[in-house]
Amino acid sequence: MAKDYYSILGVSKDATQEDLKKAYRKLAVKYHPDKNPGDKQAEEKFKEINEAYDVLKDEQKRAAYDRYGSEGVQNGGFNGSSGFSGGFDFSGNFSNFSDIFEEMFGSAFSSHGRQGYQQQPGSDIRYDISISLEDAYKGMTSRIKFTTLVKCPSCNGAGSEGNKKPSPCPACGGRGSVRSNHGFITVEKTCQTCGGSGSVLSDPCKKCSGSGRIKGEKNLEINIPAGVATGSKIRIVGEGEAGFKGAPSGNLYIFVNVLKHKIFDRIENDLHCIAPITMVKAALGGEIEVPDLNGENCLIKIPSGAQTGASFRIKGKGMPFINSSRKGDIIVEVAVEIPVSLSKKQKEILEQFANEKDEKTNSPKSFEFFKKIKDMFS
Ligand SMILES: [Zn+2]
Ligand SMILES: [Zn+2]
Repeated sequence: MAKDYYSILGVSKDATQEDLKKAYRKLAVKYHPDKNPGDKQAEEKFKEINEAYDVLKDEQKRAAYDRYGSEGVQNGGFNGSSGFSGGFDFSGNFSNFSDIFEEMFGSAFSSHGRQGYQQQPGSDIRYDISISLEDAYKGMTSRIKFTTLVKCPSCNGAGSEGNKKPSPCPACGGRGSVRSNHGFITVEKTCQTCGGSGSVLSDPCKKCSGSGRIKGEKNLEINIPAGVATGSKIRIVGEGEAGFKGAPSGNLYIFVNVLKHKIFDRIENDLHCIAPITMVKAALGGEIEVPDLNGENCLIKIPSGAQTGASFRIKGKGMPFINSSRKGDIIVEVAVEIPVSLSKKQKEILEQFANEKDEKTNSPKSFEFFKKIKDMFS
C-alpha cells in the first residue's frame, strides 16, 4: 500500500527541509508514546511520521520516493539503512529512533535507559588464529592474549564500592527519564541523577566509575579440537567483553585459519597429495613412502605400468572428524616424471629399448590413437 509521506507530515510536495523538520517536530512531540501511554493509535501515528520523516529528510531517499512511491523507497536499496522499512517493535528498545531523536532534540527524547542499561550484556569478540595442518590434525591448546573490557576487579563488576546493590533512582523513580513542562509542551529528558539507567549506586566504584568494567588484557588458554579446518569457529562462552554493571559477558569466537601445507591439500577430511615417481618405477612397479601427519611413513605399492593420475588410498590416515574417532584417508596420486638431462650412456640404453619395444603391447594407448588416425584417411 502506497503511503503519502507528505500528507502524513501535513506538508506540501515542495516543502523545504526546514518545513519538514518543523512539521515533524510538532507531530513527534504530539504523538510520542511517552505522552500517550497505552494509546495504540498514537503509537501507529508516531511510527508513520517517523517513517515519513526518515525518508523525506534524506534527499536521495526523497527523490526515490517522489519517483517510485514508498514501495520504491522500501525495496529500492534503502532497505536496512534506516531500520524503518521493516516492522517496528515497540516492545523492544528504541534504537531505531535514536538517530532522529538525537538529531532533533539532543538527548531530551532519547530513550536510553527505558529498558534499563543494567542488562546491557558485553559484546562478542572475534579472535583469529592461524595454525598448521599438523596442529589441526592433532588438536592443540594455545595461549591467546587480547585487550578488551574486563570485569572491574575492584568492585567485582557490581559498579559499587562496597559491593552494594544499586537502588532505584529517587529522582526519576527508576524510569530513567524526567518530564518538565515548557508552556504547553511536555519535554522528557534523560534523568541527570542516574544518567538514564534508572538506578543509582550509593557509592560508585572509583576504578570503573560505576560501570563495573575496565579496559584490561585477557590471557586465556584455549583448546582447539583435532579436526578443525579453515572457517571453523570455536565459541567460548562468557569470554567476550564484560557486561555493563555486572550484566552477562559476551562470548569469544575463535576463527580458525589452517595454513597451507607443504605436501597435503585437504579436501573435506581426506588429505590429497601428488607424488612424482620415476619412469622406471612406473614401468617396473615398486614402492614409495608418504608420511602421515603423525610423521609415520605409509608404504604404497606401485604396480608395474602405473600411469600418471593413478591414485592410491591409505585408509584412516587423513584428518580426524571433530569429536569423533573417525578419520578421513590419505589419497596419493602419482605423476610419472620423464627423465631429463640424460647422459650419453642413458640415451644409448633408451635407444636400445626403443629398438626392442613392441608398440602394440608396451604402449597400447599410443598405438590405438595412431591407428585411429590412420583409419581416418583410409
Ligand atoms: Zn569497579
Ligand atoms: Zn534517575
